[in-house]
Amino acid sequence: MAAASERHCPACGAHSPRLLESLSFRVFDSCPVAGCVDLVSCGDCGLGYYSTPSRQADYDRYYAQNGYYATAQGAGAGGHSAAEVQRFDARAQLLRRHCREANTVMDVGCGRGGLLSRLQAAGFERAIGVDPNPDCVQLLHDQSQLEAEHANAVSFVGRADLLIYSHVLEHVIDLAPLIQHAQQQLQDGGYIYVEVPDAAQYGKGGLLPYHELFLEHVNHFSEDSLHGLFARHDFRCVASGQTEVFGHNGAQLPCLWGIFQRGSSAVPATDHSLHQALANYLKNCRAHPMQQHIEQLPKQLWLWGVSQHAMLLLGSSGLKERNLLGLLDIDPYKQQQRIDGLPISAPQDVKLNDESVLITADAFRTSIARHLHKLGHRGPLHSLSDGLYQE
Ligand SMILES: [Zn+2]
Repeated sequence: MAAASERHCPACGAHSPRLLESLSFRVFDSCPVAGCVDLVSCGDCGLGYYSTPSRQADYDRYYAQNGYYATAQGAGAGGHSAAEVQRFDARAQLLRRHCREANTVMDVGCGRGGLLSRLQAAGFERAIGVDPNPDCVQLLHDQSQLEAEHANAVSFVGRADLLIYSHVLEHVIDLAPLIQHAQQQLQDGGYIYVEVPDAAQYGKGGLLPYHELFLEHVNHFSEDSLHGLFARHDFRCVASGQTEVFGHNGAQLPCLWGIFQRGSSAVPATDHSLHQALANYLKNCRAHPMQQHIEQLPKQLWLWGVSQHAMLLLGSSGLKERNLLGLLDIDPYKQQQRIDGLPISAPQDVKLNDESVLITADAFRTSIARHLHKLGHRGPLHSLSDGLYQE
């Protein structure tokens, strides 16, 4: 368990954490950030956050070495799938409506530039990407001729009319330096757009239990705690609303957005409702049938799909009692990693015999089962949502 005193509230600076649950992610052996964190809420402002011994510098190293953001095809990497183009088009139109006089826009944490290209299409004169991952920046230069700067949220240089932080703030250990840097890079009258997961709505998008609790999401915002963060830095909210990011199989992550401009604004009262919402969410996670399916798994099994969700279940559910025969993943980056000394293998490189396999990614289980069948596997298949099942 992480000591609850390790991190002050990143929104208000107070140190009055209220423990919700200790989480243990079984991270890669080379991972520079701690896998054991406490999910807490701030007794002063109500923000949810991870109390962790890891510092911003550890997370910076984590993102620099993590290949996911340059290669991923799923939501959250700023990519170009049909669903993402639709989502980014809607965001670009929304920004065009609310920030009419903005010409230069910077997307901080632009990933593979999906939103950036839609901002250009929506009529912003100049759209510039910023990303700490050099592969993402290189990709933008090579493939789309988009302007991009290799920098992080506190080192980029530019004078923008609109700064976009879409799915960035939930990843940041030190929020105050980020907002102070934004103030310095923003033109007079400029806007900040923020979009984050809505922690008050966790569990309401049809995702499997604990799926919302990514290792990387160190802050868990409600509308009031997001507005309070900006009010403390003399930004007022000029527009806000709810949205969602769609995952696979129709599941979704409920999200919040807000547009902020310089100006004084009252700091909202402590948001006690977020603590209660997160406590209810965790209670529902513990009572979900998935936990029984995990309890009923055979003692020895293979695991296919080493996601952050799988890492959390490996460390914090009945899965930690299981004897893993091996870990499988088709991602070449993950195939270079180990967890507690156990290598992550390419499926074609191992002999599976007729042993049990747990497929952690429900959305892909049919294609994974087909893949296993082709490799000669005829043993039992298990999924998190249905337990033992047959294709
Ligand atoms: Zn606080």
